[in-house]
Amino acid sequence: MKQNTVYNCPGCSTAHKVQLNDATLVICQVCNEIVADNVADSEKPKAAHIPDDWSFLQIGTTGVYKEYNFTVIGRLRLQLRNDYKNFWCTTCDGGKCLWIAESFGSFALFTASWTEVKNDLSQLHAGKKVILANNVTLRGEYVEKCEGISYTGEIGPWNLFYPGFFLIQASNGSGQTAFFTIKKNNRHVLSGQKVTLEELNLKNILTWDEWK
Ligand SMILES: [Zn+2]
Repeated sequence: MKQNTVYNCPGCSTAHKVQLNDATLVICQVCNEIVADNVADSEKPKAAHIPDDWSFLQIGTTGVYKEYNFTVIGRLRLQLRNDYKNFWCTTCDGGKCLWIAESFGSFALFTASWTEVKNDLSQLHAGKKVILANNVTLRGEYVEKCEGISYTGEIGPWNLFYPGFFLIQASNGSGQTAFFTIKKNNRHVLSGQKVTLEELNLKNILTWDEWK
């Protein structure tokens, strides 16, 4: 999928211009149809309604974190057994994908992309140590099975579009954090930094009375 390509939604004809230089999926925000994707057949996404969560963020929210000026363009929501995670897909620097993970008002920001993990992660549980490729040491916080996945807007590089995989978050005292996804031998990691709402300097956010 090439940046700046315009696709018309097959459901409602709304035009969608691809904003990322490595987009994986475009979903129509008007009618939830899949507009375009470059996902392998085994993980082909299906159109589905995405539930609302209590969140300040929405598609169109902008923010500034250090040198990154970003705009939220998509949302991917993981329903876990005891929790949920929103992965907000943002674009910055003219098409780079930057992820913001959110759940219950806690945030983490990821300027790097998902990368494949070669090591066996079957021993990674809550409290267990894991060392990343850049020698950062983290401890497992939880392991949860993904029970549902839904998405809307434009989504950057992402591998798994069906539930049933395991999500693990591991972090350390310096605020470094990583998500791992495990589906049989398909193991990926997204590593970044925990951030506060204030550090994201968000604009165009939902306020209390708008959220319903
Ligand atoms: Zn549509």
